[in-house]
Amino acid sequence: MAKNYRAELVGVFGDPVDGNPTGVLEEAGFTALGLNYRYLTMKVTPEDFDAAMKSLKALNMKGINLTMPHKVTVLPYLDEISQAARIIGAVNTIVIREGKLIGDNTDGKGFVQALEREHTKPEGKAITILGAGGAAKAIAIECALAGASSVTIINRDEKKGQDLVHSILEHTSANAVFLPWTVHQPIPEGTDILINATPIGLHPHGDQKPDVDYHTIQSSMVVSDVVFNPPVTPFLKEAAARGAKTISGLGMLVCQGALNFTIWTGQEAPYEVMYQALLREFDEM
Ligand code: NDP
Repeated sequence: MAKNYRAELVGVFGDPVDGNPTGVLEEAGFTALGLNYRYLTMKVTPEDFDAAMKSLKALNMKGINLTMPHKVTVLPYLDEISQAARIIGAVNTIVIREGKLIGDNTDGKGFVQALEREHTKPEGKAITILGAGGAAKAIAIECALAGASSVTIINRDEKKGQDLVHSILEHTSANAVFLPWTVHQPIPEGTDILINATPIGLHPHGDQKPDVDYHTIQSSMVVSDVVFNPPVTPFLKEAAARGAKTISGLGMLVCQGALNFTIWTGQEAPYEVMYQALLREFDEM
C-alpha cells in the first residue's frame, strides 16, 4: 500500500498567541492515537485575518481554533454555526467539511464538561459569575442551556453585564440578574456554583485575586476559575480555605481541547493523556 506522508492540519489563529498552550495537549492526543495530525500555533494580525481565512481551504486544513481578537470577526466567514455559538456571538472552533466552514464555541461546553468530570451539574443550580467578557458569556449561556435555575453576573462595566443578562433571558429558560461589582463584593447568598471568569490571577500576576468578600464564600459552594496558569489561583486557595469544593481552569481548557479534537478527528479524545501533557508543561515553566 502506498504510504501517505501528508499531515492533516489544524491549529489556532490569534494575536497575541505565543503563550497559548493548546498545541501541547492536542499534539499529545494525536501522538497517543497515532494520528498524522499537526496543530500549528499561528500569529495572525487583524489586517491579515482575511488572507489567513482564505488559506484554510487552499491548504486543505481540517479546521482551526480562533482566539483573541478573531472570535467575533470570524462570523461572516462561516457557512454554518452552532446554536450556542450564535447566542454567544463568538466562535472558537471551525471544522471544514465538504468545503463548508462550520463554527462552534467549545469554551462554555468545556466548562460544563469540566464540572461534570468533578460530579457537578449546572442543572437546577444558582450560578454566580465574576466578569462578563468572552469566557463569562460562553460559560453563562452553556450553563443556562444545561438547565441552571439562575445566573447572576457581577461585572464592573454595567452595559456588558446587562447585555449578557438580556441574552440569557432571551435565549434560555434560566433567570438572570446583573450586579455592579462593588468594593469587597459579597457573593450572593444561595449561590451553588461561583466562577471567576476574569483574567485576575493569570501569570505573571499569579498573586492577585478578585476583590470579593471571601467570608461570604460558603463550604456548600463549588468554586471554579477560568485562569489555568497557575493551575491553583489565590482565588481557589481562598475558597478551599473556607471548605468549598474547587475546580481549576485546567479542566475547562483540556475539556474544550478534547471537544475540538473530536470535532476534527471524529475520534474520542484521550483526556487523561492531554491533561497530563498540560500539567507537565506548567511544571516545567
Ligand atoms: P475578556 O477581555 O473578554 O473579559 C474580561 C472580563 O474580566 C471583563 O468582564 C472585565 O470586566 C473583567 N475584568 C478584567 N480585569 C478586571 C479587574 N481587575 N477587576 C474586575 N473585573 C475585571 O476576556 P475573556 O473572557 O476572553 O478571558 C478571561 C480569562 O479567561 C482569560 O484569563 C483567559 O485566559 C481565560 N480563559 C480560559 C479558558 C479555559 O479554557 N480555562 C477559555 C477561555 C478563556 P469589564 O467588562 O468591566 O472590563
